[in-house]
Amino acid sequence: MKNINKIYVNGAFITPNGTEVANLINPSTNRVIGTVTLGNEIDTQLAIASAKAALPAYSKTTIAERIEYLQNLYHSVSKRENELVDIMVEEYGGTLQFCRMSTKGTVNAFLNTIETLRSFDFERKIGQSIVRLEPLGVVGIITPWNASNSFITGKLSTALAAGCTAVIKPSEMSALQTQLLTECLHEAGLPAGVFNIVNGLGQVVGAEITRHPDIAKISFTGSTLVGKTIAKGAVDTMKRVTLELGGKSPNIILDDADFEKAIPQAVLMAYMNSGQACIAATRLLVPENRLSEVNDLVKAVVTEKIKVGNPQDEDTNVGPMVSQKQYERVQNYIKLGLTEGALLLTGGEGKPAGLEEGNFVKATVFTNVTNQMRIAREEIFGPVLSILTYKTDEEAIEIANDTDYGLSAYISSENIERANTMATHINAGRVAINGFSHDPKAPFGGFKQSGIGREFGVYGLEAYLEPKTILI
Ligand code: NAD
Repeated sequence: MKNINKIYVNGAFITPNGTEVANLINPSTNRVIGTVTLGNEIDTQLAIASAKAALPAYSKTTIAERIEYLQNLYHSVSKRENELVDIMVEEYGGTLQFCRMSTKGTVNAFLNTIETLRSFDFERKIGQSIVRLEPLGVVGIITPWNASNSFITGKLSTALAAGCTAVIKPSEMSALQTQLLTECLHEAGLPAGVFNIVNGLGQVVGAEITRHPDIAKISFTGSTLVGKTIAKGAVDTMKRVTLELGGKSPNIILDDADFEKAIPQAVLMAYMNSGQACIAATRLLVPENRLSEVNDLVKAVVTEKIKVGNPQDEDTNVGPMVSQKQYERVQNYIKLGLTEGALLLTGGEGKPAGLEEGNFVKATVFTNVTNQMRIAREEIFGPVLSILTYKTDEEAIEIANDTDYGLSAYISSENIERANTMATHINAGRVAINGFSHDPKAPFGGFKQSGIGREFGVYGLEAYLEPKTILI
């Protein structure tokens, strides 16, 4: 039992003004494993004031100095990588496989940013002018619970590379993970106030960040609904926003794909991060005349290869949902799929046998799904896969694009050129051909209601900078 009763402001762990206390719950057992004292508006204002005071000096640091700071951060975070994995499994319920990968991302964010920074041109000659890219100012960073620390370090490292200072509001459900990360960040010895971390509720701390005139930009990852609230609030002070929001990613299996390879991959891609992933491939689009073959393959993979269970086990593929609320949400979508007339291929309502204590959901697949059903249109954020069919490549593209979202898409084919041509017609920020892969240097972000702006690499860094044109 650990009580997180401090926030991090101006280089120190201080007692917040806020007094509300929330429980931290292990989702595998639903037992209370800690508490967090929630910061309030005053705490947020203190953190913003501290970031503002640190800005004049920090924004003038040289690239070499920023690289040194990022290297120090890398060293202090990487030293505790294993502990960061363990606490993520315990507090979030992510599988060991996923938490290891995610924490690698948490650590490597600093190195990736250093690489981008080394070759980045902060001053460019354009036309007759000199264009200087200057730090935007104090940045508000607001993150969700589904890979909490990797979102924090990804955004923070980029803000620091740009010469910005930051106020971070992590998910209130990730306080144990945040505490360990904050200890690491503190140890790196950056100047006081350069980054500040306030635990608290979205509608309190997040709302204050959104409305405060001294915040120049918000980088947010979370739901589309909250993203819209932040965008609306941010416009009053014309804050810049980067919004990484939800998804309902299509996975198109072309008729020439190797189904024996592509279908097991499709299942894993739908259930990644226990289905609680914005990029999860939740709509599987298959040729109509191959549906029964696909149904058989999917069912065999899910029932024989996918293990739902204790996230601490090496071979678990799907852990519990983060909270009882999230569990109920997923259950409601499973009920909805049944009432909408989709055919349940495997899984379904309730908890898997022997896992009644935690927020475990059965690995579920619906087939005979149409793209008009809500289970095909709305982000479920759990291990629920929908199988849809198409007759022609044109129809596959039409169905793939018939969504409010546009974060990721996947195409499988033995003919890379064919898949690549199809990718040009898909409205999504990322299209992965033949499986899931990640490129931390390439831009990441969404079309349509999956967001605004991009993260990572050069595009990500530019989003923290304001171009100033000098005409001589
Ligand atoms: P959420 O939108 O409920 O919360 C995200 C963060 O916003 C939390 O820190 C929360 O406290 C805060 N917040 C809530 N209300 C707020 C308000 N009114 N003002 C300011 N901040 C507020 O999301 P979640 O449930 O934590 O995470 C799941 C969602 O995140 C899913 O929709 C998922 O698709 C999305 N997500 C997107 C990406 C991406 O990169 N596109 C990555 C991961 C998760």
